[in-house]
Amino acid sequence: MTQILNADLHCHSVVSDGTLTPEALAERAKANGVELWALTDHDEISGQHRAMAAAHANGLHYLCGTEISITFASATVHIVGLGFDPDNEQLRQGLHNTRGGRGQRAMDMSDGLAKVGIHGAYDGALKYVGNPELISRTHFARFLVESGVCKDTNEVFRKYLTDNKPGFVPHRWATLRDAVHWITEAGGEAVIAHPARYKFTANEEYALFSEFKAHGGRAVEVVTGSHTPPEYVKYADMAREFGLAASRGSDFHSPDESHTDLGTLPWLPGGLTPVWELLDHRIHRAPTPSAVG
Ligand code: AMP
Ligand code: MN
Ligand code: MN
Ligand code: MN
Repeated sequence: MTQILNADLHCHSVVSDGTLTPEALAERAKANGVELWALTDHDEISGQHRAMAAAHANGLHYLCGTEISITFASATVHIVGLGFDPDNEQLRQGLHNTRGGRGQRAMDMSDGLAKVGIHGAYDGALKYVGNPELISRTHFARFLVESGVCKDTNEVFRKYLTDNKPGFVPHRWATLRDAVHWITEAGGEAVIAHPARYKFTANEEYALFSEFKAHGGRAVEVVTGSHTPPEYVKYADMAREFGLAASRGSDFHSPDESHTDLGTLPWLPGGLTPVWELLDHRIHRAPTPSAVG
């Protein structure tokens, strides 16, 4: 097969906190020149069979994906899983347990917002997703924009949904060890998502990379919608230092909210192993158009 450059291995659909269906995302990825795609909904894989069918209908190669929330050094970190078997029971159970705390957390967030005069936030957020297990801060952010409290979702996060703000509720997610094991034991590869987003000290970041590797993690996102160009360089160096493969993904959520569209980021820097080379045998290839004649 010819070499893949335009892989987009991180985005969200209506199955978690995106606003497009898996089918609409596949069409958008195709229109933007994506060759290999993965849908990575938060802590959930119920969109995978639909996404794969839509990918193939659009001539895209597909890797199964998810983005698992974990707690590391008292902070929330995201681990992307790629290329796993979506029917693996241990992975399904692990994701189910990870999602389980979201309903109560959302009620606590709503209580916090009520204390500063914002009422009905639980019902308002739930309306966007339907399932309390899948409710996320993004859905609260959309409700606060819709009800005129803030002008955009960034403002909501800054004023209400981050550390020490009225709608923030500390939460214990999965462990790094479990997330990496669920993914790798289901035949996939674990990837540290958008490492520049975490407010870690250099020592904490070093610990994250070392422990991730010790548990069997083999890749890190280098080119993502969450990184600046200098951060591509920094994490390309980290990938080389730790002997990790590199991933590329927009983290696209919504045409109205995301600044980076599917498939539009720069290519991975040279001298790195693309994570999709480790996963060559796990790629669900698009059917080739049948030969004429
Ligand atoms: P949760 O998993 O409920 O904590 O929600 C996390 C989601 O909120 C992330 O996946 C992003 O989609 C979104 N998010 C986090 N921080 C911000 C921010 N500063 N601005 C906009 N969206 C954010
Ligand atoms: Mn999200
Ligand atoms: Mn993330
Ligand atoms: Mn994401």
